[in-house]
Amino acid sequence: MPAHVDASLCDGCREAGLRAAVVRCEAVCPGDLMTLDPQTLKAFCRNYSDCWDCCACVKACPTGALAPRLSYALALFGAKVSYEGRPDGCRWTLSGAGVEEAFDLPGDTGWK
Ligand code: SF4
Ligand code: SF4
Repeated sequence: MPAHVDASLCDGCREAGLRAAVVRCEAVCPGDLMTLDPQTLKAFCRNYSDCWDCCACVKACPTGALAPRLSYALALFGAKVSYEGRPDGCRWTLSGAGVEEAFDLPGDTGWK
């Protein structure tokens, strides 16, 4: 299943009201699945069945608008995973059922 798009956070990779030169989630998706709705300029996945859950789009999003979907087999209903890129690594945060756990991973994420 492709990442969930939080439309309130997706700005279409625009800055200062200008159309983005590069839509990050679109640029990194290996299956060419992520794109912008021409009406709303919000991202969406054009083919759910072709998504292989690589999370490249989640990691590339500069606004935190994308989050992996978790199946009930992996986590409780309502559980969420969020990604935060940093210059020296990244943090994955799993939350649900009143519990939150963070996993910090070192390395160059490409975020400056
Ligand atoms: S999870 Fe991977 S394959 Fe699926 S939409 Fe995102 S970048 Fe594309
Ligand atoms: S990378 Fe994030 S902000 Fe940019 S279009 Fe995709 S979901 Fe929206």
